[in-house]
Amino acid sequence: MDTRLDYVWLDGYQPTTNIRTKAQIVPSEDFSADVEDVPVWGFDGSSTQQAEGHDSDCVLQPVRIYDHPLHDHAHIVLCEVMHEDGTPHPSNTRALLPDDADEFWFGFEQEYVLMTTDDRPIGFPKGGFPEPQGPYYCAVGAHNIAGRDVVEDHWRVCREAGLGVTGINAEVMLGQWEYQCFGKGPKRACDDLVVSRFLMSLIAERSDMVFNLDPHPIQGDWNGSGMHTNFSFDHLRDVGGRAYIEALCGGFGRFHDDHLAVYGAGNERRLTGAHETASIDRFSYGASDRGASIRIPIHTRSNGWKGYLEDRRPAADGDPYLITARIIETVRAVHEEALQASG
Ligand code: ADP
Ligand code: MN
Ligand code: MN
Ligand code: MN
Repeated sequence: MDTRLDYVWLDGYQPTTNIRTKAQIVPSEDFSADVEDVPVWGFDGSSTQQAEGHDSDCVLQPVRIYDHPLHDHAHIVLCEVMHEDGTPHPSNTRALLPDDADEFWFGFEQEYVLMTTDDRPIGFPKGGFPEPQGPYYCAVGAHNIAGRDVVEDHWRVCREAGLGVTGINAEVMLGQWEYQCFGKGPKRACDDLVVSRFLMSLIAERSDMVFNLDPHPIQGDWNGSGMHTNFSFDHLRDVGGRAYIEALCGGFGRFHDDHLAVYGAGNERRLTGAHETASIDRFSYGASDRGASIRIPIHTRSNGWKGYLEDRRPAADGDPYLITARIIETVRAVHEEALQASG
């Protein structure tokens, strides 16, 4: 019996990359399922905005392997895109992540909208709108829910693949949903998120649905889609403290523009100050404040100001490698001063 390998990578489109995949079989006798033993492969970079036509070969370097939940004797192989000489391609944002940051844990809240192939949210009547927002968030019942079968199938296959997808909920707009994806270490967390997005695209395809990550797909009084990024690190989990956390958050404010630059394209259409967002123009933080840029969750306060923080600014279409790299960089830039401020 041969083994099927589905290679997955991010292309070179700007400002938002797309997931690409192609599959091949390898003989099972000599396949160990260790990522080191997965054959390096390649693709035509001139078709993915990663190369010019006259010199178009890009290298797919396998970096993590998962059980494939949709096929027997099969794996998903997440890859970094490399030049022929082994250096990372400019589109390879995973290569920017530090190797010494596994004390950082991340929990992404991936919001999205399931749409028809003509870009109408599932559950919206043709050419019109459903009842106003209010009843849809965490709803039950066919009047207020659309797309649940796809959502449940996706969660099941993510768990079968071993991804850290820990929960789901219906969101504020009809046809809008969220899942939470958690991982220890930025590479693990981000790799799982990319593969979870890949699997959702495949599952939705089967029902002729589109996995839409636009930060604000429907104009008017309808919520946009974000990707709140919850993060923690040793000192925040083990020591924390109110003064430390407030000084850390204050320090984040100095880098507001650097964060927004990598928090997803079109985010200005979402971060309006309405619909549970903070305005893009102003950085803020606050305890339990869903109108703040960074929220200090109630769980962190009630745990003696120890735990995690929620950055509410990233958009649904954000690149998790860029987002987590930026958070790590800012924490490392302001940690010392926050320690001093907390005495
Ligand atoms: P809410 O909708 O109230 O903002 P969710 O329950 O949807 O909250 O998401 C909370 C997220 O926080 C989850 O992804 C969870 O994995 C993550 N999380 C919890 N504890 C930590 C931690 N110590 N470090 C990083 N992320 C965490
Ligand atoms: Mn949530
Ligand atoms: Mn949400
Ligand atoms: Mn949240």
